[in-house]
Amino acid sequence: MTLPDLGPFPGAPGYDKAAFLDESDPLSHHRDRYVHADPDLIYLDGNSLGSLPVDTVKAVEGTIHYEWGDRLIRSWNDGWWDLQLRLGDKLAPLLGAQPGEVILSDSTSVNLYKLALAAVEAYPQARDRIVTDDLNFPSDVYVLGSVARQTGRTLEIVESDGINGPVEKLTNVIDRRTALVSLSHTTFQSGYTYDLAEVTRLAHEAGAMVLWDCSHSVGAVPIDFGGADVDLAVGCTYKYLNGGPGSPAFLYVRAELQDQLANPIAGWWSHAEPFALDLEYRPTSGIRRFHTGTMPIISLSAIEAGIDDVLDASIHAIREKSIALTEYLIEECERSLQPLGFEIVSPKDRNRRGSHVSVRHREAWPINLALIKDAKVIPDFRAPDTIRLGLSPLYTGFVDVHTAVQRAVEVVKARVHDQYAGVVTTVT
Ligand SMILES: *Cc1c(COP(=O)(O)O)cnc(C)c1O
Repeated sequence: MTLPDLGPFPGAPGYDKAAFLDESDPLSHHRDRYVHADPDLIYLDGNSLGSLPVDTVKAVEGTIHYEWGDRLIRSWNDGWWDLQLRLGDKLAPLLGAQPGEVILSDSTSVNLYKLALAAVEAYPQARDRIVTDDLNFPSDVYVLGSVARQTGRTLEIVESDGINGPVEKLTNVIDRRTALVSLSHTTFQSGYTYDLAEVTRLAHEAGAMVLWDCSHSVGAVPIDFGGADVDLAVGCTYKYLNGGPGSPAFLYVRAELQDQLANPIAGWWSHAEPFALDLEYRPTSGIRRFHTGTMPIISLSAIEAGIDDVLDASIHAIREKSIALTEYLIEECERSLQPLGFEIVSPKDRNRRGSHVSVRHREAWPINLALIKDAKVIPDFRAPDTIRLGLSPLYTGFVDVHTAVQRAVEVVKARVHDQYAGVVTTVT
């Protein structure tokens, strides 16, 4: 079944405001820098997999045809060897980091493991606690659990109300037994954004290190590791940075800490003289200490155009539009979706909210499928009953938001979702 009307819906309340906001949007021209294969599709899942930047296609083609095809192994000396450092330096201003503090390599989960283990092992055994919360991404909790088991420590998962970061409870839990505090800066489910400086200070006052996962912030929410004195951080590049599926994640280590920590996955790329091919491991200094093995060059080459576009737009302009988009979406949800049984489960305080808004509904799973299959709206579903609506300021407009909400209204009113009640898919 396909919906008869895909909109736009100029007759519906809220449309004029959206049209006005689009007209006065200083970032509207960025939209054409991304591939829109289906002009009717409204993509609200850039917080899970960002869109393809047009320039990325050319960049990857160049890497494949020229650097690999033509130049072959000579390319290692023509820029490949340092590509993860060069891109890390390029990303650094978006993190409030200095050159030489960031690399792009491996996945977020692997980087988290490396840094969490390195941090915990820097403390005496008496510091036997790792602290996180129940809003953290499950993979992060699994990784921190492995680190705790392997180092004879305990992982404490502080309980929240399901939406907001449990800052007060964290204040009570973080103490002199804590080695490491590791949290998502913006949480994947509700979109709650922690005050980076506040929680970092809490950890430091207790003598512990912090390890932030900024997967749902980087490229959407301004970050200042330097200003907040953050020790360690990781994050995805395939969400708001649009680096492509499984693109190498970032890893940040504050300069002063780099030579004090040991990389638990010591590989030849972190050796002082990798081409000495010595059987004895001697770690190099600086951020290269956190390298492990050969970098995925083709995937790295796909990241640069996305970072460039965020830098070009400026993270502050992106944040301003992101707040306007989420505020507008919340207004539309309150007006049109709440009467149909939806509940907003993201923070109402704009300063504590990232760039997505989550709504809950008893029939969220089939509604989400109907939106994708019949209404050309792609949000995502998170078990058991949440639909996340991700707003990527570089390519999402206000009329897009209005249209998506109106299509959802039509889906639910016509009960289009009834046909999907029992359907199962691998990826949600
Ligand atoms: C998306 C996300 C990840 C993904 O990790 P991968 O190793 O790339 O699969 C990890 N942590 C958080 C907080 C995320 O949002």
